[in-house]
Amino acid sequence: MNRNKNIRLLEEQEKWDLVVIGGGATGLGAALDAVTRGMKVLLIEKHDFSKGTSSKSTKLIHGGVRYLKNLEFRLVKKALKERYILKKNAPHLVRSINFIIPVYSWFHFLIYGIGLKFYDLISGKWSFGGTRLLGREKTIAHLKTLKNTGLKGGVQYKDGQFDDARFAISLAHTIEKEGGTLLNHFEFLSLKKTNKKTTHITGYDRIREEEHLVISRYLINATGVFSNNFMISISDQFKIRASRGTHIVLDRSFLKSESAIMIPKTNDGRVLFVIPWHQQTLIGTTDEESVNLNIDQIVPQEDLNFILNNVKNYLTKQPQKADIKSMFTGLRPLVSKNKTSSTSQLSRDHTLHRSQDGVLHVLGGKWTTYRLMGQEAMYYLLKDEKTNFRSSKTETLKLFGFKEHADFNDPLHVYGSEREKLRNFGSLESFSEKFFICEALIVYAINIEMAMTLEDILARRTRCLFIDATETLKIAPEVAQIMATVLKMDDKWTANQLDLFIPLASKYII
Ligand SMILES: Cc1cc2nc3c(=O)[nH]c(=O)nc-3n(C[C@H](O)[C@H](O)[C@H](O)COP(=O)(O)OP(=O)(O)OC[C@H]3O[C@@H](n4cnc5c(N)ncnc54)[C@H](O)[C@@H]3O)c2cc1C
Repeated sequence: MNRNKNIRLLEEQEKWDLVVIGGGATGLGAALDAVTRGMKVLLIEKHDFSKGTSSKSTKLIHGGVRYLKNLEFRLVKKALKERYILKKNAPHLVRSINFIIPVYSWFHFLIYGIGLKFYDLISGKWSFGGTRLLGREKTIAHLKTLKNTGLKGGVQYKDGQFDDARFAISLAHTIEKEGGTLLNHFEFLSLKKTNKKTTHITGYDRIREEEHLVISRYLINATGVFSNNFMISISDQFKIRASRGTHIVLDRSFLKSESAIMIPKTNDGRVLFVIPWHQQTLIGTTDEESVNLNIDQIVPQEDLNFILNNVKNYLTKQPQKADIKSMFTGLRPLVSKNKTSSTSQLSRDHTLHRSQDGVLHVLGGKWTTYRLMGQEAMYYLLKDEKTNFRSSKTETLKLFGFKEHADFNDPLHVYGSEREKLRNFGSLESFSEKFFICEALIVYAINIEMAMTLEDILARRTRCLFIDATETLKIAPEVAQIMATVLKMDDKWTANQLDLFIPLASKYII
């Protein structure tokens, strides 16, 4: 992907079939579906691909065990089918992992056992493997750091895990390979005029500091929690409520397992996951309504207290705030048809709404269902039109980097079939012992993955900031220097990148 080339394409193209605003899971899914139908597609993203909620998820590709409790069987079933499709089309990015619910009473053994058998049953031919009841010894053997006083056993089930920001980059590449055009750091400013056949919008290139007029047949709003103030025309029943979810990252020694723990009931009735991720332990999440929609949230102390207090009941090694290596808060976009429910009661299903100005708003949803949302959005847009556009191909489309049997212990597995090309971009020797970061990844991110800023590289092309924020601050000057050399930028640029990155990174540090 080359941003300069894409700016030229933007200037040359008189009219697009579709412009998608927002480069998170939702926007990427809609753009991918449209481009496989043969449409001329432009996707614009104000910051960087997946900078919003889509890089701050729990990183699960799942049906959602907990939605069974809310009787959302339809959502669970379609998410389980999507889980299967995503793993089939991107086996280098999605893997199946074991989850174990530890149980401390026979009653819970029965209840969770039946619930998880049902989850497995719903997944049918899309199953990742059956649910098993584990005795006390087997549970302890799988989860060596689990508190075992009063432990009766565990219920083991399978679900999917992925790296959200890397998945987004693979999607962006796939869109481009299929003929689409993408621009990060390009902001939608305003809707100029619109009629039945044409929409005129203005956008702003934040890198070159230039305004552009863009003309398109269709327009999709996929701006997640920012949808409400996006256009005047969204009616109240489709307003988004934002739900804040925090995660913390601890050293691997707190879990020491390839299996994840699912805590089915915290002290306020929610679920909590303790998951192995990038050789660390990822724990989350919370679910609290938020009126603050800042894309870079400050992690609230109450969220940290909630996570630490609950996880302490399950782990032998008691985590303290000082153990937190990284922490981050994302905002779930939830469609609020009922103003009184708490956000944890609101459905994770998605909603499509075409406002009077012709804009299609794709609202809510989950990472797991991004493909289906894109497919349904395009169907909705085209259903009453006479067009030559083909039907969607995404159900069987292999994503960029597709590679079967990836070694998930290899820190470079996320590059899939492109992994071997990395050595052409520089040294593959990591200059940190805390995570894998090397010259080749930085140069590749700039030349091939449209990384424009220090943050793009350290937060999303690599996941350094999410793995160990203090270490990331230490290596940031070296990374900025390599970037400046590749991009032919001066010392002022390097200093500016660090000035922008340091305050952001400090939000990930306790
Ligand atoms: C804590 C948490 C955990 C989660 N865990 C999971 C999980 O494990 N599995 C799962 O399936 N789902 C999970 N989800 C849900 C999932 O992450 C979200 O549903 C999904 O990422 C939302 O994607 P989106 O594209 O709608 O929003 P976003 O990712 O926020 O994308 C919207 C984009 O629009 C851009 N934008 C805004 N304004 C403009 C503008 N004017 N011009 C151009 N661009 C603009 C923003 O910069 C942003 O990048 C989780 C969510 C949260 C909060």
